[in-house]
Formats: sequence, C-alpha cells, structure tokens
Amino acid sequence: MNTSSRVAVYGGSFDPITNGHLDIVERGARIFDQVIVAVLVNLQKKPFFTVEERMAFIAQATAHLDNVTVDFFPGLLVHYLQKKQAGFIIRGLRAVSDYENELQLASMNRELDAQAETIFIPTRHEYSYLSSSIIKEIARHKGDVSHFVPAVVNKAFMQRVANDS
Ligand code: ADP
Repeated sequence: MNTSSRVAVYGGSFDPITNGHLDIVERGARIFDQVIVAVLVNLQKKPFFTVEERMAFIAQATAHLDNVTVDFFPGLLVHYLQKKQAGFIIRGLRAVSDYENELQLASMNRELDAQAETIFIPTRHEYSYLSSSIIKEIARHKGDVSHFVPAVVNKAFMQRVANDS
C-alpha cells in the first residue's frame, strides 16, 4: 500500500452521478490526498448511460477538484485498490436501509483485503432521498431533474428524452 499519500477510491455505478454523489466526492477530497471516482463496469446490468458517458459526466462535474480523478474498473473493488495502491474505500450513507448492505460490503472487502479500510460519509440531509434510479425514473417521464444532478447530466437527460420521443 502507498503509505506516503492517502488515496481513496469512491466506486459505484454512477448511472448517472447525482448531486448526492458529488457532495460525497467533494467532502472526500477534503479528507484524502487523492480521490479516484471509479465507475463499476457491470456487464450483467443494462445501464442508462454508457461507461464513457458516465465517466465524462463525473470528469466535468469534478473539474474544480484538483485531487480527484475518474476511472473505471471491471472486476473486484479490492483488486482495483491494490492496482492503484489505494488504502481507502469511500462509501456514502443515506438512510438506515443503506447501512445493512454497506456494512456487509465493507466487511467482505476487508475479508478479501485486510488493508482495505472503508470510510462512510453520511449524506447531507437535502440529498438523503436522492438516488440515480429515482432520477432516471423522473427524467424518463420528462420531469425536471435539474436540481438533483450536475448541469452536464441534466443536459444529457434532456437530449436523450427528446431523441426517444
Ligand atoms: P451502487 O450501484 O454501487 O450502489 P451508486 O452509484 O448508486 O452505486 O452509489 C455509490 C455510492 O454512493 C454508495 O455508497 C451509495 O450509498 C452512495 N450514494 C448514492 N446516492 C447518495 C446520496 N444521495 N447521498 C450520499 N451517498 C449516496
């Protein structure tokens, strides 16, 4: 593990990134020397946005943060951590309902790699009800999601919905 700098990975589907995710990235960037936002490539799921689109949205939304980079990973998060010599996993926590699954994930990741330390960052109250799935549902029905996602994502939704109709 890289002991001289504290590198953290914030992994997830980010399909797409929301203001809730962005808040976690910004706060993580104040805690760690480097934060890698890594898009999980899951071939079993059919995503709304491609990995390339999701990475581009994250890159634009985090352009103001010098110590944040964007990447993707296809396999196990702990293998990605080892590859990047990162010691920390950032996860956001919303409601109690997140907790059970997140605790299970954190325990499993530590079982797989004793060096992998998960750090939970609690959501800001105003983002506690935000999820990518809810946002996609609203956007599909032409609802206004501009308050919930970065501007670049809102624009992409508007283009997609216009093209689909
Ligand atoms: P996954 O599909 O792997 O859960 P997501 O992209 O949905 O990936 O979420 C990645 C991480 O961000 C998870 O730890 C999740 O709990 C957290 N997260 C998602 N939405 C929010 C939010 N509104 N506030 C804080 N954390 C969030």
